[in-house]
Amino acid sequence: MGHCSNVHPARESEGPNPGLSKAMSKRALITGVAGQDGTYLAGLLLEKGYRVFGLQTRLGSGGLWRLRDMGILHRITMVDGDLLDLSSLVRAMEEAQPDEVYNLAAQSFVATSWNQPVLTAQVTGVGALHMLEAVRIANPAVRYYQASSSEMFGAVGTARQNESTPFHPRSPYAVSKLFSHWMTVNYRESFGLHASCGILFNHESPLRGREFVTRKVTDAVARIKLEKQSELRLGNVEAKRDWGFAGDYVEAMWLMLQQDAPDDYVVATGRSASVREMCRIAFAHVGLEYERYLVIDPAFYRPAEVDALKGDASKARTVLGWQPRTCLEQLIPMMVDADLKRVTQE
Ligand code: NDP
Ligand code: GDP
Repeated sequence: MGHCSNVHPARESEGPNPGLSKAMSKRALITGVAGQDGTYLAGLLLEKGYRVFGLQTRLGSGGLWRLRDMGILHRITMVDGDLLDLSSLVRAMEEAQPDEVYNLAAQSFVATSWNQPVLTAQVTGVGALHMLEAVRIANPAVRYYQASSSEMFGAVGTARQNESTPFHPRSPYAVSKLFSHWMTVNYRESFGLHASCGILFNHESPLRGREFVTRKVTDAVARIKLEKQSELRLGNVEAKRDWGFAGDYVEAMWLMLQQDAPDDYVVATGRSASVREMCRIAFAHVGLEYERYLVIDPAFYRPAEVDALKGDASKARTVLGWQPRTCLEQLIPMMVDADLKRVTQE
């Protein structure tokens, strides 16, 4: 697999559960536990012997299907709470008594952030501040992870982005993430919190929401192959992203909180591909040519675009010992296969 040269298989010497004994009795609170990353992270922490608490909103739109699909829903203790309600977060902290808090909850879809900019700022931006305040009030010794995003780089002026690259956010989502990012840095510097930001580049999986472009494509490929759909409508297919696998990326989150000192890390594969190239891989996996089905639809263009992202995760590699294990040629077929199975069972 020629393109996979930048990824690395699991290190055999680690065994299946590195750090298991150390983590045996730890407790973690995950916000956004029912989302893509929350589900993979909960699975990882359970495997490591953690007691996992998940913040569950009553108004949530996504449901618990991912945790159910993964077979781990029954192993997670759900705690009522919402990032918009600070008092509920303090109560969740008191109930869970966590050693580690992973703040993954967000209005996470860039396109929606232009239609719901205020809500996005409140949840994705101020919501993280609420969580930081809850930590500071309930137990400032807790280790805190903030889900920062490569979208913060936005209109980049460099070929590759690392922790020193200047930010130029291009959407209400990215501006909101920048607020939560700097608040996390500020709480670390002001109050000495063990608070770290993972600046994660796009990461996908069969559990990705269908609104995101990779899953939209893999779902469409399955439907087209099974003759339930005839075309795929997309916006800017020349945009480039550095796509990795969510299952690999949650390991980096955990590693950040195991360090003696908190810090910020870029997490990426270091390879950038266009939406067009990703489509080609997805259709080719089922023996189809994407050009026959792709329709460019201006409705999916954005008011401002992030043209190209490519991460430099050298720091995560050197300090955390983290490396991606899954390349695009493995990731996209994995997602197509999962969607073929789902669509067949519908
Ligand atoms: P998802 O959209 O899959 O999950 C987000 C979760 O947040 C959902 O479970 C959602 O619940 C929950 N949520 C939304 N609003 C609130 C609220 N007010 N209070 C509590 N929970 C809420 O995102 P991912 O798992 O893909 O991403 C995890 C985090 O990482 C997000 O912060 C995202 O912005 C960030 N990120 C993601 C990247 C990616 O490529 N996946 C890249 C970089 C950063 P419900 O669905 O029930 O509303
Ligand atoms: P993002 O990087 O967090 O915005 O992740 P997305 O998966 O939503 O979008 C990645 C890129 O795909 C962006 O540059 C989009 O403009 C581009 N894109 C092109 N067509 C589509 C589409 O139909 N849906 C989505 N979600 N993105 C699209």
